[in-house]
Amino acid sequence: MRYNDLNESIKITWHGVIRSIQPRTRVWRYLTDNRTHYHIGYNIFLMGEGEEGLTEFCVAISEKQQQKDAFQIGDTIKGTAWTKKYPEREFADYYRAGALTIEKRAVEPLATACPWTGSLPELHVYEERGARMLSKTQWKGKCFTCMWAAMSNVEIQWDFDRDIKKYRFETFCYGPKSCKYYKMGRARSVPYRDRGSALDTGWLDGLCTENRDWDE
Ligand code: SF4
Repeated sequence: MRYNDLNESIKITWHGVIRSIQPRTRVWRYLTDNRTHYHIGYNIFLMGEGEEGLTEFCVAISEKQQQKDAFQIGDTIKGTAWTKKYPEREFADYYRAGALTIEKRAVEPLATACPWTGSLPELHVYEERGARMLSKTQWKGKCFTCMWAAMSNVEIQWDFDRDIKKYRFETFCYGPKSCKYYKMGRARSVPYRDRGSALDTGWLDGLCTENRDWDE
């Protein structure tokens, strides 16, 4: 990945094989009073060539782009995209993707540890289901190919009066609560100016997913 000194975006071309597709989300946090998830597209994780020969990278695409081509794990695709202007706010390596082309469809689904692969749900489905915090180790491991896993761009409202935010990335799961791979991981601290951090110990997960049962 490459950024110039002025922090400007650069248009690049890329191609690669899809290793995973997950929802692209933004999460707004305010202490432990509020955790709001916004569903803004999909992140495609690829193995291939991006800027400067990067071999593993992530491209953000829109819901319309995913609906049009129904990308799936194992497809070989190419396109254009832009490097990110604010790396601390955006997990994907590239965004504003365009000229997406399928070079080769996956012949058969790749074998994965995770049972939740296949046609991706539309974004409203994620919105309705809600998410629980997911251990980053699980996200990187058994959950990586799962359609219910997400690496979110998180903004923490650190000071309301001056509208100052802090940014980081967090992992979440939209899948069935009964999934055998689920681990919450450690509680997450949510800092605020002149106060100690509040700890999100998981009770917000209950609120966020209260509309579904254990096996849904
Ligand atoms: S824990 Fe969640 S993200 Fe991981 S495999 Fe199960 S449903 Fe998917």
